[in-house]
Amino acid sequence: MADYVQKKRKELFLFGEQLSVLDVRSFYYLKKELGRSVRNSNELLYDAGKDAVQKMQSSFVKFLGDSARVLMSDPENALNEFVEVLNYLGLGEISIPESGLKTIKFVVRHSAEAQEYVNLKERSKSPVCYALAGIFAGVCEGILQNPVECKETRCIACGEEVCEFVIPSGDDIILTRGGGDDRQGHKA
Ligand SMILES: [Zn+2]
Repeated sequence: MADYVQKKRKELFLFGEQLSVLDVRSFYYLKKELGRSVRNSNELLYDAGKDAVQKMQSSFVKFLGDSARVLMSDPENALNEFVEVLNYLGLGEISIPESGLKTIKFVVRHSAEAQEYVNLKERSKSPVCYALAGIFAGVCEGILQNPVECKETRCIACGEEVCEFVIPSGDDIILTRGGGDDRQGHKA
């Protein structure tokens, strides 16, 4: 894992592309300012997270070369590897308590997107981690080669202990080992 990130002088690189580290307050104020400026700020954050992670996924595949093809042919393994990469980005402590047939669930402790709500003791009426939801949707779409939607069902900004994200059940969301029959016709 450490090989994925290179530090050159005072810059950080992930898969050869420059990376930045932001204070959790930045996410909070970005969200607040966007919410004040545009009506569909939540969708914007979701789409931005999704687009960014899909670009990152392409860089990851290029970076790994041939071994990427092997990894991507085993969706469950690929998902675990990407979650390890995401854990490197300091977005929170991400785990997958449930993956397999039809439903994928992500749990995030100390979500960078919501942590400042906790720090400020501010309660949100609804979950706030839209960029993370977009990131998880993007990662799963890239692996499954099928469109998916991800919804945050619990959030620390609402007073929950962890943030929880669910990609709801559907016939298209099937993680199988070794790219079996279920994935015929979905290969890029
Ligand atoms: Zn959250």
